[in-house]
Amino acid sequence: MDLSGISGKCRIGTAMRQIDFTNTQVASSETARNINRGVVLNLIRKRQPISRADLARVSGLQRSTVSLITEQLIREKWVVYGPTGRLPRGRRPTFLRLNDRRTILVADLRPTEITVAVADVNGRFLSHQAFPTPADPQSALAELIARIRHLVEVHSELIFEGIGISVPGRFDPLTNHIVFAPNLHWPAFDLKAPLEKATGMRVDLENAANACVLAEVWFGHAEKVRDIVVVTISEGVGTGIFANGQLARGRAGMAGEFGHVPLDPSGPKCTCGGRGCWEVFASNRAALRYYHEESSAADGPTFQDLLSLADAGDALATRALERMAHAIGRGMRMVVAGLAPEEIVIVGDVTRQWKKLGPIVEAEVSAATLIGNPPRVRPAFAEPGMARLRGTVALVLQKHFGPSGYASPVRSRASERVRVRAQ
Ligand SMILES: [Zn+2]
Repeated sequence: MDLSGISGKCRIGTAMRQIDFTNTQVASSETARNINRGVVLNLIRKRQPISRADLARVSGLQRSTVSLITEQLIREKWVVYGPTGRLPRGRRPTFLRLNDRRTILVADLRPTEITVAVADVNGRFLSHQAFPTPADPQSALAELIARIRHLVEVHSELIFEGIGISVPGRFDPLTNHIVFAPNLHWPAFDLKAPLEKATGMRVDLENAANACVLAEVWFGHAEKVRDIVVVTISEGVGTGIFANGQLARGRAGMAGEFGHVPLDPSGPKCTCGGRGCWEVFASNRAALRYYHEESSAADGPTFQDLLSLADAGDALATRALERMAHAIGRGMRMVVAGLAPEEIVIVGDVTRQWKKLGPIVEAEVSAATLIGNPPRVRPAFAEPGMARLRGTVALVLQKHFGPSGYASPVRSRASERVRVRAQ
């Protein structure tokens, strides 16, 4: 059985199953069937509208296998018939596309604002609303439930697949709690179970930086990249790691907290309780602090103001942002030395000034590269809010689609026979 290229971990049905490469018997007929179903779904997603013949040609699967899978997907309302194709002669092929009435409810939970939206399977947003983040998790939960119920009621024509939420902290799948969200100032709490109970839908939560990684891999320009790190820069500094074609979550979902590694233990205090963390020097708040250190103004600007001031040629604002860019680049040295990614993607309003600040970050990263070329450092494909929301769409969908572009079909004749019998 050719398993090359199949991601080591694929999400199947509602449970996540680990494929153990040391024991190929684990790749049962059900696993093979689900991998191939994911491959076909992803091909339809990326190349729609697409004919069955092209699906077979591109995937390398037999025509009969493709037909069985697509019929099942049509029955389950994941896929619908698209426009009829035109060929110079012969039969007109019927094209397939994703059913854009299948949708996902997504929320982006941030320290100041919560956004709730409805997106279709292609990551297109059908509705979008925001409200200020309440001071306590119970009020936030009540507000979320009310808004989600309302959206489901208003969009009765849609099929809702589930709820995805991006959080400014880490989600511990063992306890279902959002843990380590120092900028949110909430205690550890369970948002998942009460929300699932109230809505009857499955709820998936993910760290904001991890959500941005999924957005890049699913909807951005990083489909073929297997090692990518996303650095989110806002009130804090978050890092999402995609290594070997998979999200790295670590124990209690805590992998990627480079933002809280102290670069200077005698530096300013951090919200995590430590001192001189990368975040304290490289976040939006750090840039505002740099500005205040030199400015005599009593009322300080917001970070957006700071960007506009720099745009208008203000020397203090420019200097503050440059100091921030040096700190971003210096912290990235940990990421480069530890993970050797092909790409580092920055998500944050700071990328509005990328033309001026990008070269500073790149120079810092270059200076720390041990051998070969430094990784490519670039702004994200989508603007920050959109990246987090799109990532949560991918979070919910990956249960059905598998890990995006990394899976190869299981092509052995034996496995196809098993699969056909099992249909
Ligand atoms: Zn810290």
